[in-house]
Amino acid sequence: MAGIEITGVSTVYPNGVRAVDDLDLTIADGELFALLGPSGCGKTTLLRTIAGLEPAAAGSVAIDARDVTRLEPGARGVAMVFQDYALFPHMTVAENIAYPLRVRHVAKSRQREVAAQTAGSLSLGELLDRRPGQLSGGQQQRAALARAIAAGAEVLLLDEPLSNLDARLRLEARTFLKRLQHELALTTVFVTHDQAEALALADRIAVMDSGRIRQLGTPREVFQRP
Ligand code: ADP
Ligand code: ADP
Repeated sequence: MAGIEITGVSTVYPNGVRAVDDLDLTIADGELFALLGPSGCGKTTLLRTIAGLEPAAAGSVAIDARDVTRLEPGARGVAMVFQDYALFPHMTVAENIAYPLRVRHVAKSRQREVAAQTAGSLSLGELLDRRPGQLSGGQQQRAALARAIAAGAEVLLLDEPLSNLDARLRLEARTFLKRLQHELALTTVFVTHDQAEALALADRIAVMDSGRIRQLGTPREVFQRP
C-alpha cells in the first residue's frame, strides 16, 4: 500500500497556464479518492503530475514516502488508466494484461499466471483471447484496469473512469472499483466532474477550482455542510 503526499506543487504549461497552483494534498494508503471540479479546474493536470506525465514546476510528489518528483512515470509505482483505455488493439486481452510484465522480461509462464489471475478478479476470464475491438466499453475498461494491476502498481490513477459508460455499466464499474479497493487495498485517485460519482464512490473528495483545492473531506463533509 502506498500513500501520496503532494507538497507545494505547481504545474505550468509552456503557454504559461498555471493549471495546478501551489497545491498541498495528502492521500492515505488504500484510500479511494476523488478529484472533483468543473472542466478546466486542473484535475487531469494534477493526476498527470502525480503520474509523472507532466513535470511539476515547483514542489514535490512522494509516493509511499519516496520522493518521486524527478522520476519517470514507469519508476513511480503508479498506473494510469486513460479515458479511452489505451489498450493495444492488435493484442489479445491476455497479451494486453501481460504487456507490462513482458517489457520487464518476466517469464512467459509467470505472465500467463498473472494475466489469468488478474483477469479472473475482474471477470475477464472468458475473454482472454479476444481483442479490444471485440469487447464492450465496460470490458475494455476492466482490461485496462487489469493491465494496470498486473504491472504491480500500488497507486491507480483513473481519468473520468465512469464517464464513457452507460448507466448500467457505470453501476457495474463502481462495483468493480470498490471490489479492487477492498481486495487489493490499492490507493486509487480518480478524476470526475460528476458530484454523484464522487459521492457514490469516494472515501474522500477534493473539490478543485483554478488549480487549487477549495474543499476537502468525506462525501458527507463536502456535500452536507450545515
Ligand atoms: P480539468 O481536468 O479539470 O478539466 P485540466 O487539468 O485539463 O482541467 O486543465 C487545467 C487548465 O490547464 C485549463 O485552463 C486548460 O485549458 C489548461 N491546459 C490543459 N492542458 C493543457 C496543455 N496541454 N497546454 C496548455 N494548457 C493546458
Ligand atoms: P521481445 O519482447 O524482447 O521482443 P519476445 O520473445 O517477448 O521478445 O517477443 C518477440 C515478438 O513477439 C515481439 O516483438 C512481439 O511482436 C511478439 N510478442 C511476443 N509476446 C507478445 C505479447 N504478449 N503480446 C504481443 N506480442 C507479443
